[in-house]
Amino acid sequence: MLSSPATYLDLPEPFWYRQSPEPVRDPHMLIWNEDLAKELGIAALPDAVWAGSETVPHSVPFAQAYAGHQFGHFTMLGDGRALVLGEHVTPGGDRVDVQLKGSGRTPFSRRGDGRAALEPMLREYLISEAMHALGVPTTRSLAVVTTGEPVMREQPLPGAVLTRIAGSHIRVGTFEYAAQLEGTEALRALLMYAIQRHAPHCASARSPALAFLKHCLHSQAALMAHWMSVGFVHGVMNTDNMALSGETIDYGPCAFMDHYDPDTVFSSIDTQGRYAYGNQPRIAHWNLAVLASALLPLLEGEKEAEARAVLDLYPERFQSAWRQKMAAKIGIEDAVEEDDGLIQSLLSRMQEENLDYTRTFLDLEQGIPDHLEDWADSWQKRVGSLGEARKRMQTVNPVIIPRNHKVESALHAAGGGDLQPFTDMLLAVRQPFDRSLLGSPYSEAPPPGTPRTVTFCGT
Ligand code: AMP
Ligand code: MG
Repeated sequence: MLSSPATYLDLPEPFWYRQSPEPVRDPHMLIWNEDLAKELGIAALPDAVWAGSETVPHSVPFAQAYAGHQFGHFTMLGDGRALVLGEHVTPGGDRVDVQLKGSGRTPFSRRGDGRAALEPMLREYLISEAMHALGVPTTRSLAVVTTGEPVMREQPLPGAVLTRIAGSHIRVGTFEYAAQLEGTEALRALLMYAIQRHAPHCASARSPALAFLKHCLHSQAALMAHWMSVGFVHGVMNTDNMALSGETIDYGPCAFMDHYDPDTVFSSIDTQGRYAYGNQPRIAHWNLAVLASALLPLLEGEKEAEARAVLDLYPERFQSAWRQKMAAKIGIEDAVEEDDGLIQSLLSRMQEENLDYTRTFLDLEQGIPDHLEDWADSWQKRVGSLGEARKRMQTVNPVIIPRNHKVESALHAAGGGDLQPFTDMLLAVRQPFDRSLLGSPYSEAPPPGTPRTVTFCGT
């Protein structure tokens, strides 16, 4: 067995560059995630630390090098506006990265300023916390600190630094970087590190690379099923934004779908709909194929064919994960293949009738809406007791998702200095399954005919 690096900094230096954050003028803590800090065993430190203006003793901040396929095209990337302050071991023994986002320029900044505006950082904070409350694997948000400095976008905007907590920041794109630019030994070191951190059982496999590919395939299939079940649209599923920890990462132009439509796109830059809601499972498969190609130098002989065979497992793996999640939303335990038709016919009805995705499941908990009567006959036949089914549905169908029209107005208010709508909304999205919030404005779909709000990458 090969020996594994203990921390990311034990990997050869081309994987990272030592880089200090650039101090900011006037750091002020805007939101601190006390529950998360406790869970992680991270003490409250001066605001200046979380803005990158003051260093943490023994910390060696670094920017990670990576590449990636952006909208299908290979590019050299790297942390252009983020720095890992260090790895932290939680009281539970988990190793996490503590990363600042918006902390200033790095060798990877290209023409960017290395900075972040307040509203996009608050969006990441809110949506990642909502995803966590919904039970979806995700990076977490520990803090948002304002910098007292404007960032120049189309207009000057208030600047901020987000502290992100992640299982790691190893991406498909990190493997692409190693394979393309660093050679087989570096690639092997990265693989052993990723395995040690995320899938130790793979270390003793006949082919660790194949075992790790399979591990990532399983975690991505499960993650996609989870996203689909809550109506989440990531918006920019480039290979550099797919984390091999299996967590949702990089909340840019992401949003939750209101009325059901597989073609739903929010992102202003996704003009072709490559990352539309309904395409996400396929794109994850595509990204896994990129991972497999990056691993090829470690797969000699017939293992190449085996890698192809592993990739071919994805559609079935995703379908069964999706089936379990979706069937649970209509109160079915132990879903079987035949349930796909029942689920699909409900989704088709939603699309034809322009129904709100999240509300439809809640409505079915209360009664049978007129336009779903014929569908409900088959549903009742399948579940037997609607009462029992409905009880189960209450545990999986959210009342509260961070609806985009609400997110936008909360962020807009925060940008103008009023944080109250944001903190109110944060409170609501943290209790997504609480039936007492059924009448809350956060549970309401936008009025019919409201145009879909366009979201931006926020760079
Ligand atoms: P993202 O769309 O956030 O995944 O970022 C894509 C790439 O652009 C990454 O390499 C980022 O580090 C880089 N980037 C994004 N915003 C900035 C910025 N303001 N300054 C420098 N680099 C940036
Ligand atoms: Mg990214």
